[in-house]
Amino acid sequence: MSKRDYYEILGVSKSASADEIKKAYRKLAIKYHPDKNPGDKSAEEKFKEAAEAYEVLSDADKKARYDQFGHAGVGGAAGGGYGGGFGGGGMNMEDIFSQFGDIFGGHFGGGGFGGGGRSHQIKGSNLRVRIRLNLDEMVNGTTKTIKVKRMKVAEGATSKTCTTCNGSGVQIKVMNTMFGQMQTQTTCGTCNGLGKIADKIPAGANSEGLIKSEEEVSIKIPAGARDGIQLNVRGKGNDAPFGGIPGDLLVVIEEEQDATIKREGDNLHQELYISFAEAALGTTKEINTVGGKVKIKIDAGTQSGKILRLAGKGLPSIDSYGKGDMFVHVNVWTPQKLTPEQKEFFETQMRTGQMQAEPSGKEKSFFDKVRDMFS
Ligand SMILES: [Zn+2]
Repeated sequence: MSKRDYYEILGVSKSASADEIKKAYRKLAIKYHPDKNPGDKSAEEKFKEAAEAYEVLSDADKKARYDQFGHAGVGGAAGGGYGGGFGGGGMNMEDIFSQFGDIFGGHFGGGGFGGGGRSHQIKGSNLRVRIRLNLDEMVNGTTKTIKVKRMKVAEGATSKTCTTCNGSGVQIKVMNTMFGQMQTQTTCGTCNGLGKIADKIPAGANSEGLIKSEEEVSIKIPAGARDGIQLNVRGKGNDAPFGGIPGDLLVVIEEEQDATIKREGDNLHQELYISFAEAALGTTKEINTVGGKVKIKIDAGTQSGKILRLAGKGLPSIDSYGKGDMFVHVNVWTPQKLTPEQKEFFETQMRTGQMQAEPSGKEKSFFDKVRDMFS
């Protein structure tokens, strides 16, 4: 079966505005919503078709590709720029509600399935945890094992079809009104729309046959993680009752502040303090980088405020193959306590006019240094 044109499905012209597209979709989504058309396969197909069209036409980038290449530009066959949104077979109902639930507004209480028990596969709820990583772990990747408290199907728990709704998840009432017979449909109160109820509930389990458990979950964190990104560990959320699919464990990465190394985009910065003598005579210093310790050379006559750039010692860039740099900010430490001999030495220097500041005019200003850092 060849696919219908997305504009045709929504009944809008190619020049329709984003608002017109949204309105057209909303109208169709409400018309063909499964809560309004229980058991009507063709309505369900139309509902899915409209959602697919809207998914593409409401996204400027996908719309542009569709306008240029048609279905091939956005479909599963084109290589799935979408993370499996379409995979050829259209969208599933759960995707539609999670993506566009808000479009139904107050019409269908929360945009969930309400009474759509027929094709609804029960999914357990997701769990969310935070993991703190230090810079080294974020750069190089790591594996963390954490304890997760999740609801699990209790051993020996069984279920049976709900006898109130015969598994449909909905109750239909026929009422005689002055306009004739009217059918209303409500979510089955016995099974809350799940179509199944618990049969045997083992000790300690809740009414859905789920029991609290603690499980160790090993989470592999890829190299190059960033603060705030979320990893999805499939199936490690709460189990679903009655043979559904378990929810996911959502892992949010948090960056632990390093005591000495500060991050700025892909670049890293750290302060280095050297003594007056080291600045005058030159020296070698060992500093920490995310790849381990590195020795750097401090030239004789180094001025306070000098910035040393260690190319490639920053973080791997997320959007290119490059790496950031490490900037070492050199600070010359002025002695605060002097021995009598040191005091005499400096007094002689001052009296005889030696060790004067003698800027040549070629010293880099603060702004030059900032410019160098970004060049
Ligand atoms: Zn029921």
